[in-house]
Amino acid sequence: MISVEEALDKILGFVEILGREDKPILDCLGQVLAEDVYAPFDVPPQDNSAMDGYAAQTKSIVGASYEHPKVLRIVGEIAAGCVSDLTVEPGTAVRIMTGAFVPYGADVVVPFEETDEVDRKGTSVYSAEVGVRVGLPDGSNIRRRGEDIAKGELVMKAGRLLRPAHIGVLASLGKGTVSVIRRPLVGILATGNEVLEIDKPILPGRIYNSNSYSLAAQVLMYGGIPKLLGVAPDDVEQLTVAVRHGFDCDMLVTSGGVSLGDYDVVKQVLAAEGDVSFWTVRMKPGKPLAFGTFKRDDGKKIPHLGLPGNPVSSMITFELFARPAIFKMMGRGSLARLNITAILEDSIKNSDGRRIFARVAVGKRDGKYFASLTGQQGSGILTSMTRANGLAVIPEDTKEVKRGTAVEVIMFDWDDLEIGEKNK
Ligand code: AMP
Ligand code: MG
Repeated sequence: MISVEEALDKILGFVEILGREDKPILDCLGQVLAEDVYAPFDVPPQDNSAMDGYAAQTKSIVGASYEHPKVLRIVGEIAAGCVSDLTVEPGTAVRIMTGAFVPYGADVVVPFEETDEVDRKGTSVYSAEVGVRVGLPDGSNIRRRGEDIAKGELVMKAGRLLRPAHIGVLASLGKGTVSVIRRPLVGILATGNEVLEIDKPILPGRIYNSNSYSLAAQVLMYGGIPKLLGVAPDDVEQLTVAVRHGFDCDMLVTSGGVSLGDYDVVKQVLAAEGDVSFWTVRMKPGKPLAFGTFKRDDGKKIPHLGLPGNPVSSMITFELFARPAIFKMMGRGSLARLNITAILEDSIKNSDGRRIFARVAVGKRDGKYFASLTGQQGSGILTSMTRANGLAVIPEDTKEVKRGTAVEVIMFDWDDLEIGEKNK
C-alpha cells in the first residue's frame, strides 16, 4: 500500500502544464494568464471628477462656509464623455459631472451638496453663479490620471489566476483577448455490466450511471472540459474501443473495475494499452486506484486515473488526485486545499490503519468550526456527499477520534457553510 502523498506525487509527476490559447477575456474566467500584461496608457487617462459638482481653484474657496459662501461665476458645464476646452480661473467654476475630465486650471471639485445650487433654483442667478459653502484642500474629489494604473506598468504577470476583477482590469486596458493556459479535456468513462446510461429505461439488475455525471461535474467545477465517453461493459474488447475514444483527451478518468472482482477487467485493458500501475492507497474510501499513461499510436502519452466504482470513492479520489492534476495542467500555482481545524461532533473509529476521509458538514458557531458526519459513511451512499462540504481527515495511526476532538478538515465547498449550520 502506498500513502496518499506518494500517490499524489506520482500523479503530479506525470501531468504537465498545457499549452496556451488566445481567447476573449470573458471566456478566460478561472484560467491562468499565459502572458505578462502591460498598461498601454494611464488609467484613468485624465484627471477626472469623482463627484457631481463644481470644478474650481482651491484658492477661490479658502475660508468658505455656510454663512459666508464664496460666490463663483459659472463659465460652463462638462458632462462625462465630453471633451471640453473650458478653463477655470480665479473666481470661476465649471459645473462638472462624475467621470468628466477636469478642466484646465481647476484643482478641486466641490460637490453639489456643498454649494447653494439647490437654493438658487428659480432665481435669476441660477446657472450664472454658485455659492460654495466649504473650503477644500487641493485635489479634493479629483481622481488623478494614472492613479489606478500607470502607463507602461506590469499590471498582471503570466501565471495569475483570472478572477472577475482581473477580467475587469483587462477590459479597462482595452484588451478584449488574452493568452491563457488552455483548459484540459478530460475523458470520463464508466465501466461495469450493471451500469446503465441515464437515457435508458431502468432494467432489473442494473443501476444508473451516476459516476460519469458526478465526475464530469467535478471536472467542470475545477475548470476542465469533460468529455463523456459513455459506459463500457466489463469486456476487454469493448473497453479497449471505449478507452480509445478518449485518446484526444488530456487526461482520462475511468470509474470501476479496478478492484479484485472477477470482472474487473480495466486492469487488463490498461496494461495492454499503456503503462499502468495499480495501487492500493492507504485511504478510506478509495483504496483501489489505478494510475498510468495510455500510449497512442503516435507515441503521445495520456495520463489515466482509474478510480474505484463506488460513487463516493470515485468522487473523493477525484477530489484528492484528479483535481490537483487538473489544476496543474491549467498552470495554477497552489494545488492544495485550504484546510481548517474543526471540532468533531461525532466519534470516528479507524480500524485498519488507513487514512479516513470522512464526509462532514462543517458549520460555524461562536467563531469556531464544527464538523458532523453526514449520516451513513458507506462508499455507495452518494447522498452523504450532497450533505457534505468537507472531508475530515483521520490519520492512519489514530484508532479513534472522540466527539469533541479537534480534527483537520479539507474544505471542498466554502460557499455552503450553511450545510453545517442547518444540520444542528
Ligand atoms: P467496481 O469498482 O467496478 O467493483 O464497482 C463498485 C461499486 O460501484 C459497484 O456496486 C458498482 O455497481 C458501483 N458503480 C460502478 N460504476 C458505477 C457508476 N458509473 N455509477 C454508479 N455506480 C457505479
Ligand atoms: Mg465494476
